[in-house]
Amino acid sequence: MSAQIIDGKAFAAALRGRIALQVASFRDAAARAPGLAVVLVGEDPASAVYVRNKGKATLAAGMASFEYRLPADAEQADVLALVQTLNADPAVDGILVQLPLPPQIDERVVLMAIDPDKDVDGFHPVNAGRLATGLYGFVPCTPLGCVMLLKEQLGDLAGLEAVIIGRSNIVGKPLAQLLIGENCTVTVAHSKTRDLSTIVKRADIVVAAVGRAAMIRGEWIKPGATVIDVGINRTEDGLVGDVDFNGAASVAGAITPVPGGVGPMTIACLLRNTLVSAYRRAGLKLDMATL
Ligand code: NAD
Repeated sequence: MSAQIIDGKAFAAALRGRIALQVASFRDAAARAPGLAVVLVGEDPASAVYVRNKGKATLAAGMASFEYRLPADAEQADVLALVQTLNADPAVDGILVQLPLPPQIDERVVLMAIDPDKDVDGFHPVNAGRLATGLYGFVPCTPLGCVMLLKEQLGDLAGLEAVIIGRSNIVGKPLAQLLIGENCTVTVAHSKTRDLSTIVKRADIVVAAVGRAAMIRGEWIKPGATVIDVGINRTEDGLVGDVDFNGAASVAGAITPVPGGVGPMTIACLLRNTLVSAYRRAGLKLDMATL
């Protein structure tokens, strides 16, 4: 193995430490804690774990955590009513509705109902539009975490050739916007892309966000490239990413492991977005350089 392993867990822990310091300053200035509300509809076990971890991390950072659970047969109107209550609640700076939602609920309608200025997941079309046009808004947490890791590893990303595999609204598309903003030359590959291996081969930065175990082969990677593996796949061998880790690690310059790479950054960036929201809503200035 020649690649450097990018320790997302350590980077995320350090970021959470810096966030906690700013939370303490906020509490002094605003006489309240930044608040994150998480809504879970139904009993999906993976979602329940995510929600529990988010709640724990929120409290550990010194923020207030509000958790709302609705039954799997909740109606769309119930979810919308809860979102409206949270939109109006001054103690809530961030609202996150855990996806996926049960089939009787239209995800898009629910995401549209969240106040864009409390949309710390960055999924509201207003925030997607802000990101696409370079305006100030909330950036989805996973792509934000990917870019933080890339800048920590590589410094200035200008001019680098970036290939993103996956075009979802929560990872691939916002990541493409962020990397364009960093002056990369960006290619977004997807399920209909032809000759994926040739496209990946030219990348200085490869980001895999597909959800298929080890589909990105080591021999596709350009020697020295930086590989960010967003994928989380449960297999008989445990959790693995979308990249054939051993194969890629023998040629890449640096690579994120799964678990311990992008995953911890997602939660840290959620806390970061909630902190930013709290400062903004209170009219206080947050020095972003401290994050
Ligand atoms: P998604 O299912 O919404 O999108 C998958 C994308 O992969 C699609 O755009 C599709 O076009 C593309 N794709 C499918 N088959 C392909 C193929 N053969 N070749 C090229 N592209 C192909 O997924 P998502 O929500 O973006 O998540 C992707 C992965 O990232 C999943 O494993 C998910 O669990 C993981 N994820 C991890 C985090 C984290 O915090 N680490 C956060 C979000 C998602």
